[in-house]
Amino acid sequence: MQQHTINTDYQVGPVHCYSGNIGGELVLFDTGPPTDEAQACLREELDLSRLRHVVITHYHSDHCGLVSWLEKETDANLYLPYRDTLKIEGHEERLEKLAELLLRVGFDQSFLESFRRAMNNDEVFPQFPERFLTVESDLPEHLGIEVIACPGHSQSDLVLAGPDWAVTGDVLLRGIFQAPLLDIDLETGERFRNYEAYCTTLIKLATLRGRRILPGHRDSIDSIDDTILFYVGKLLDRAAQQKQFSRKESVAQIVGQLFGSGQGHPFHYYLKASEVVFMRDLMHCPELLRSSLERIGLFEPVSEKFLQTAYASTT
Ligand SMILES: [Zn+2]
Repeated sequence: MQQHTINTDYQVGPVHCYSGNIGGELVLFDTGPPTDEAQACLREELDLSRLRHVVITHYHSDHCGLVSWLEKETDANLYLPYRDTLKIEGHEERLEKLAELLLRVGFDQSFLESFRRAMNNDEVFPQFPERFLTVESDLPEHLGIEVIACPGHSQSDLVLAGPDWAVTGDVLLRGIFQAPLLDIDLETGERFRNYEAYCTTLIKLATLRGRRILPGHRDSIDSIDDTILFYVGKLLDRAAQQKQFSRKESVAQIVGQLFGSGQGHPFHYYLKASEVVFMRDLMHCPELLRSSLERIGLFEPVSEKFLQTAYASTT
């Protein structure tokens, strides 16, 4: 598996895509951002005329920004995560319901307008291809790629794994806390329960132990356990941070206090609001996280922090 590293404008830094000959066919995992530099990189490092399959881990700009370009430039099949295809088809409905959700947690109309503008910007939501297939149902069997749904960061995150490797997108990142995003579950029309989803994902991540991890950003992952413990440690830190706020305060009020009175980008407010909602779910039912961690043998290292955070009384 060859790693292709491409700069992005995002805080997270460069993104890694991966390519390899699998079952005799050239497969690319993720595309990089929608930039000239990313196009040049793929042209130089890949034989685009041989490219047969492009598989996306999750539909965020830094990972899928060139799917539309690859659709024009190559004959490859494009595979998107099932939940992202729902987002594409239900884009308007999703924005509508997400706006209602933000309103319910205390944001006002003027915020919602700027949020909508930001979400309709290509930077946040890259251009959709015209023809696409679904990773979970359409990947040819002879490729032997295992598809593991690992929602948490987004509802659609997939891990794509071979016998001794796994392309993990943003699911396992070293030293980065990728915020769990507030979203609408387009199968139910309700809020996507990402805390519950993440607790299930933890158990799946443990099955990747022993495989070479190919992450979407930063350094290689030597230890799945250390990466999980880093992330869970951050979750508990952020949950502890929120104990200073009363449960009577709305999510929007808390975000306002965390950011002060300065005007930030609406997307940053959305990220913070996402985090606050997630932490409230965690504090509401810490047992779920505990039971997942126990099942994969990782509760002990965080037990002290966990007990301090989760069972201490809130104001
Ligand atoms: Zn990313």
